[in-house]
Order: sequence, then structure tokens, then C-alpha cells
Amino acid sequence: MKHTITLIPGDGIGPEVVEATRRVLEATGVEFQWEMVDAGATALEKEGSLLPERLFESIKKNKVALKGPVTTPVGTGFRSVNVALRKALDLYACLRPCRSYQGIPSRYESVDIIVVRENTEDLYAGIEFAEGTPEAEKLLSFISQSQDEKVRRDSGISLKLISRTGTRRITRFAFEYARANGRKKVTAVHKANIMKFSDGLFLEVTREVASTYPDIEFEDILVDNLCAQLVQQSHWFDILVLPNLYGDIVSDLCAGLVGGLGVAPGANIGDEIAVFEPTHGSAPKYTGLNKVNPLATILSGVMMLRYINERAAADRLEAAVAEIVAEGKSVTYDLRPGRDSATAVGTSEMADVIITKLSEGASHQS
Ligand code: NAD
Repeated sequence: MKHTITLIPGDGIGPEVVEATRRVLEATGVEFQWEMVDAGATALEKEGSLLPERLFESIKKNKVALKGPVTTPVGTGFRSVNVALRKALDLYACLRPCRSYQGIPSRYESVDIIVVRENTEDLYAGIEFAEGTPEAEKLLSFISQSQDEKVRRDSGISLKLISRTGTRRITRFAFEYARANGRKKVTAVHKANIMKFSDGLFLEVTREVASTYPDIEFEDILVDNLCAQLVQQSHWFDILVLPNLYGDIVSDLCAGLVGGLGVAPGANIGDEIAVFEPTHGSAPKYTGLNKVNPLATILSGVMMLRYINERAAADRLEAAVAEIVAEGKSVTYDLRPGRDSATAVGTSEMADVIITKLSEGASHQS
């Protein structure tokens, strides 16, 4: 069966890592029809919009997209093109598996944690009031009257909204993922002792949802304690479910545990649509150098293969990647001892060796 997938190269290093990934995915033997569309600065230049209608039409039609990182140009009225895209498509779950591979330089071994981050609410919903504006003044007056609390008049305001609905669906997503992937435990991360009505609600709802999944262990932890435990006892954790802000920070921490942004894949998933993309950004200073690591995007491609039910191809590709990094010779600079560029291969060449490894695997099997 041929899969039609929306392909968004992005900008900066995006086109290089996406092209490497496209070639590797095709080498698995799975058949793809790619529908190429632009987003962000490239789309603005070519089509006059950061998020053209064509982009939404393609993703809504195909339901699955592979995306490179996208820079949000300053002064375009967007906080982030990526956040706007996730919001418009209601991609409420950000899924970031963090797994150690032998050969990837890291202080830690055997890390295997799935981060499930809520993507639409919390302090990242973008509900903000600038210091000194009439709206901020009004809100501050209301707060000082209703809270019996002195608030500084020269404050800027960002609102933290966490809903029952948003928490219920992200927690269900985490538990359903656990069941579908043979995982044993879900840990809810919060700061409910301080933020009783936002994180407190998050904790209450996660507990309610957990009670309907008796086959999966559940626990909760304060986010500060989690950070300390992650760097000392990462093997305690299996699936983490977090509100948006903690999820953003903790997923980068977990990426650091397994070797950094160059190897951290991700996906943004809604009820019907999924967009697969690396955790890292467009790293503008490396644009066009054929230097950065394509693995974060290739491993996002592995996640995509599993999502579209091409599990055997996903397993073969992940095994080929694991062998290449374990051998440690044909890898990009960030995976070489001392981050040595002189002995590293480029983005495109790393894709080539993975493709060769895949074909060797195929001949072994035949
Ligand atoms: P970044 O992730 O682009 O780069 C930070 C550093 O991480 C780089 O300088 C590099 O040292 C390292 N790095 C990143 N990707 C790598 C790779 N594939 N291989 C090896 N090393 C890699 O973060 P930034 O500099 O904060 O952001 C740059 C731009 O990207 C910003 O405009 C930001 O808004 C955007 N961004 C986009 C996304 C997205 O599209 N989903 C995500 C994050 C940031």
C-alpha cells in the first residue's frame, strides 16, 4: 500500500535533515507519495503567508506529515509558527521518546522514557497582557480587589489555564500509548502543592483517568523532584505526562540524558492527524553545511512508520540506525569523540550508510 504523506522541509537545517530522512524511509521498501508543502519563512517568501491554506489542506487530507524545523521570523505577529500549526490542527499530544543507543555519547546508559506533553494549554496558550496596557491595568485591579493581595502595578501577565477537558485527553493519550506499546507505568508531573487550581486540577483529573486503567501503574511527582530524580534515577520512569511548560523543559532534559537534540525525535498528535518532527530547531548557523545529525528526524520517521502501521519497516530502520551509531565510524560530528568534525561524516553521507545497512539487512534476510 502506498502512503501519501505531507512533507514539510522547513528552513535552516530542515531541508537537509528532511531529505536525508525521505531517502532513508524510501530505502525501507515502504512506498510513499510525498506531497511537498512549505511553512514558515520559506512559505512567506514564496506564497505570502507563514502558514498557507495549502499546507492545512494537505495535512488534513493526508492525516500524516513529516516536518523539518521552522524558524519564526521576528515581527510577523506570530509567537511561533510551530505552536500556531499545532493549535490550528488541535495536535494536543506532543510525544517524545528518549532512548539510549549504544555509541551515542552520553553520561547515562539504558534510558528509556516517553515524554507525553500537553500541547495546547498552560502558560503556552499565549494569553498575555503587556505591562502598562489598559487590559493589564484592569486585570491587576480585579486581582487586587478579589484576592486581597497586593500586586505590583508594573507587572506583565501571562495566564496559566489548565482545563479538565485538556487534562483528560492528554492523560488518556498517555495511558492508551502505554497499553498499545507494552509500557508499565505512567507518572503525572505537576506542582499542585503551590498551584492548587491549575496543577491541582491536573493532578485530580490524572488520578481520575488513572483509576480507569487498572492494568497500568500510576504515580505522581512534583516537577522539581522529577528533575533531580531524572538525573540520578532515570530508570524509575517509564511514561511521563506533563502540562505544556514542564513538558517543554523536561523533554529537553530527557533529550540531554540520551545524547542531545541531534538524536531526539518527536511527534505532535491529535485525534486524527499526526505531524512527525525532530525536537530540535532550525539551527540557522549550520544551514547548508551538510553537517548536522539527521537522526532526530530519521527517528521521527521511525515513529511515523509505526503510526502508519509499517512496524516491520520501523523495526528494521531503527535496528540499522542502532548498528551505525554503535559502530560509531560513519556518524556526524556531534556523535564523534570530542565532537571532532575532522573524523565525522556529513548529514547526507550518514543517510547513505544507513541505506547501505538497510540493504545488507535485506540481503541477510533473503
Ligand atoms: P536549535 O535546536 O535550532 O539549535 C540549538 C543547538 O542545538 C544548535 O546550535 C546545535 O548545536 C544543536 N543542534 C540542533 N539540531 C541539531 C542536529 N540535528 N544535529 C546536531 N546538533 C544540533 O535551537 P535554537 O537555536 O534555540 O532555535 C533556532 C530556531 O529554531 C528558532 O527560530 C526557533 O524558534 C526554531 N525552533 C523550531 C522548532 C520547530 O520547528 N519545531 C523547534 C525549536 C526551535
